[in-house]
Amino acid sequence: MGDEGESVDMGQQQMAFDRSDTKTDAAPILCLDQVEVIYPNGTVALQPTTVDFEDGELTVLLGPSGAGKSTLLRTLNLLVRPTSGAVLSREIGTLDATQSIRAHRRDTAMIFQQHQLIGRMGAMHNVLLSRLGRHSFWRTLVGFSEEERRLALECLTRVGLFEKALTRCDSLSGGQQQRVGIARALAQEPKMILADEPVASLDPASSERVLNVLRSICKEDRIPVIVSLHQLDYAKAFADRIIGLAGGQIVFDGPPTQLSETVLTQIYGSTGQDAT
Ligand code: ADP
Repeated sequence: MGDEGESVDMGQQQMAFDRSDTKTDAAPILCLDQVEVIYPNGTVALQPTTVDFEDGELTVLLGPSGAGKSTLLRTLNLLVRPTSGAVLSREIGTLDATQSIRAHRRDTAMIFQQHQLIGRMGAMHNVLLSRLGRHSFWRTLVGFSEEERRLALECLTRVGLFEKALTRCDSLSGGQQQRVGIARALAQEPKMILADEPVASLDPASSERVLNVLRSICKEDRIPVIVSLHQLDYAKAFADRIIGLAGGQIVFDGPPTQLSETVLTQIYGSTGQDAT
């Protein structure tokens, strides 16, 4: 993507946005190269898209329902396979073979709107389950090491839940459960975190706490954190970079300060609905 400043032409695939104040010198950790996603029923969820992601940057994918946020997010760990184009990892190369995709997924933690925790298990046990992907069959039978238990406790401490380590997850609040989900993601020792509408079902105070935790992890661990959101206020408050989506196309890519009324109309339409 060029450096010629903001110029958006929705009708063509020519876009250039000024990201000079957010870009670093390091090579991007992950790139999408002309990635297009067409679902089997013919829906074009993502038009050919070229975009990259860098260490230590919190990116919000912003847009109304159906804009393509979830599809774009899921192409980043190949949960959705591109119909055409390529996903390139700095460390692994082109992600097209089963082995390279598996290696990439081990390094990429995903946080979902519904926490997908096992309710009858304690918080620490849920966090430890993320380590299974790194275990051999025999290690799984033997159980978790002292070191892994310490790591799980550290992760719960980072999300402010040390004292809830032994509490069953089904007796935690929605916000606490989401933070267990983040601790579980951290225990995976990821090189990238993806979060799909992580605050969609939370109250404002819990939402802010969850987004603050994600931002701290991004900055302290210098890893990219990519979050899909439909709330403009949260995007402005927490993102380094906002990628605005409409109709399966990126219509804005830049810092929150560059998000103009014109761009917001492109993202949300003239009614501005969903932009709260
Ligand atoms: P968002 O996350 O912004 O709500 P999605 O990426 O979920 O958007 O969806 C983008 C478009 O793709 C929408 O039109 C949606 O209905 C469609 N879509 C999403 N998933 C599927 C699927 N599995 N099969 C067919 N169409 C889908």
